[in-house]
Amino acid sequence: MAEGYDKAGSPVEEGADITGNKGPLSVVIVGGGIAGISAARHLIKNGIRQVKILEAMNRLGGRIHTVNGDAGKIDFGAQYIHGGEDNSLYQIAVKHDLIDRSSTPTKGSVASTFYGNEFYKENGSRIPKKIVKEVNEFLESVHKECNGIDNNTNYHESMGNCFERRFEEYLGSRDNTLEDVDTRKGLFDWRMRWEMHDNGCRSLFDVASPARYQNYTGNYFTEIKNGFQSVFSMLLKDVPCACVRTETPVTRINWENIRICNDENREDSKICMVETKHGEYFYCDYVIVTVPLGYLQLNIDTLFQPPLPSGKKAAILRSGFGNLVKVFLTWTKPFWEKSFEGIQFIWTSDEDIFDTQPASTLTKKNGDPWYRDFDGFHVLEDNSCTLLGWIGGEGGCLSERLTEGEILETCYLLLKKFAADMDIPKPCKIQRTQWQSQEYIRGCYSYVSIYNEPNDFQELIKPLPSKQNPVVLFAGEAMSYYHYSTTHGAYESGIDAANLVLQNVTQINRI
Ligand SMILES: Cc1cc2nc3c(=O)[nH]c(=O)nc-3n(C[C@H](O)[C@H](O)[C@H](O)COP(=O)(O)OP(=O)(O)OC[C@H]3O[C@@H](n4cnc5c(N)ncnc54)[C@H](O)[C@@H]3O)c2cc1C
Repeated sequence: MAEGYDKAGSPVEEGADITGNKGPLSVVIVGGGIAGISAARHLIKNGIRQVKILEAMNRLGGRIHTVNGDAGKIDFGAQYIHGGEDNSLYQIAVKHDLIDRSSTPTKGSVASTFYGNEFYKENGSRIPKKIVKEVNEFLESVHKECNGIDNNTNYHESMGNCFERRFEEYLGSRDNTLEDVDTRKGLFDWRMRWEMHDNGCRSLFDVASPARYQNYTGNYFTEIKNGFQSVFSMLLKDVPCACVRTETPVTRINWENIRICNDENREDSKICMVETKHGEYFYCDYVIVTVPLGYLQLNIDTLFQPPLPSGKKAAILRSGFGNLVKVFLTWTKPFWEKSFEGIQFIWTSDEDIFDTQPASTLTKKNGDPWYRDFDGFHVLEDNSCTLLGWIGGEGGCLSERLTEGEILETCYLLLKKFAADMDIPKPCKIQRTQWQSQEYIRGCYSYVSIYNEPNDFQELIKPLPSKQNPVVLFAGEAMSYYHYSTTHGAYESGIDAANLVLQNVTQINRI
C-alpha cells in the first residue's frame, strides 16, 4: 500500500498502491463520506491508478452512520432517499434490493407524511385531524413557494418571513374563533419547527427563499432495509481497501506548486502536498476536498497553504450550515397500537407546562427552554419498539450539552404531558446524535443563507488555483447546486469533481 512521505519526500513506510506502483499519488481525496467514495469510485472506474482517500475518523461514511438499536438498525445520519427513479442512489438501492417497496408507503409531501400522526396540545387534547390536514395542506403550498417550485420572486426574503407573511394572509382570509386561531397558530409553529429541522438551520429566518433546492420526483421518504449504510456499502465495494486510510486527519493542503517527486518518468508541473496530523506528507497531482462545510468554516485559516483567495473564503463563511439532532427512545415493548404513527407537539402558549421542572433547564436566546424545538416522536418502519424524535435549531444544539439521562427524562415528561390520554411507560433506552460536537463534522448539512451573494456557489466550487488549472477541487453535499444537504447531492458532486480531474489528467496517471 502506498503510504505517506516525510517532508523531504522519502517514503515513511515501504509500500505500493493497488497496482504495485510506488511514487506520488494521482489523487488524494480528503474525507471518506459518500462524496469521497463516489469520487474515488468514478476515478478508479475510469482508469486512474493511484487514488487515496484520507478519512479523519475511525470509520467511513461520514454523515451516513447506521448503528445497532435494540430492535434493529437505526440511522444516526441520513435515513431516507429523497426522490425516485431520477435519483441515482434510488436506482442503486433498487438494483441491490435494498428497498422493501411493498411496505414503503408513498409519502410524496411533508403534509401527507404526518396525517397518520396525532397532534396534541400541551394540555393533553388531540387536535381534530380535519384541522391538522387543512392547515398542513395550506403550509405545504407555502413550502413549495419557499422551495422555488411555484415562483421565483423575492430572492432575499427569508423562509421564515415567507411562512409568516403567507400565514398572516391565511388567517386574515378566515373567520376565526379565538380557540381556533390558537390551534392554527400552534400548527403553524410546529411546521416552522419541522421546516427548521428539514433545512438544518438554526433559524428559518436565516434561510434564503425561494431555495434553489430541487426535488426529484417520486417518494420523498424512502427508507432502506438495514439502514442507509447498506447503500454506502454497495458503493464502497468498488473501492479497494488499499485506497482507503481511516484515522488520518488532514491538517494542511499545500497547493502552491510543490514539485517534490521521486519518479523519474514523470514531468510534474503541479504536485500538491497533503499533510496529516500524524506528520505524514502525501504528494499528489490533485486533491479533492470533501470535508463538511461546517468543518471547512471552522478550519478555513489553517487547512490551506497558501490561504484561500478572499472571495472563496467569504463565500464559504457566508453559506449556511446548521444542526439537527435525532433522539431514539426504545421501550421493551411498544405501548402503542399497530395503527399508531406518532405524536407531534403543538404549543399554544408560552406558559411553563411542567409542575416539576425537567432535569435540564437550558434556555435558548429568546428564553424558551431547549425542548421547545422538538417536533414530536414518530414510529420507524423497521423498528417496532423505538420512536424517533427530531430537534432542530438552537434547541438541538443545546441538547448536545446534556446527558442522555437528562434528555430521556425530559422526553418522558413531554410525552406524558402532551399525550395525556395514553398510558406511556418510561423508555428503557435512549440513543441520540451529537453531530455538531463531532470534531470532523460540526453540524448536519448546508443551506443557502440570506447572507449568501449571487455568485457564492460558483466561488464555493471553484477549484484552486483556477478552473482552467484545477489542482484542489471541492466536493460534498454543500457543493451541489440543486441537491445540497442530501446524500444524492454529495454523491453527484463527487462524480463531478472526478470528471473534472479526468478531463485534465495526463495519460501517465492512468492504468
Ligand atoms: C441527522 C442527519 C439526517 C440526515 N438525513 C438525510 C436523509 O434522510 N437523506 C439524505 O439524503 N441526506 C440526509 N442527511 C444529509 C447527508 O447525510 C449528507 O448530505 C451526506 O451524507 C454528506 O456526505 P459528504 O460526503 O458530503 O460529507 P460527509 O459524509 O460528512 O463526509 C465528509 C468526511 O470528511 C471527513 N473529514 C472531515 N475533516 C477531515 C480532515 N481534516 N481530514 C480527513 N477527513 C476529514 C469527515 O470525518 C467525514 O467522514 C442527513 C444528515 C444528518 C446529519
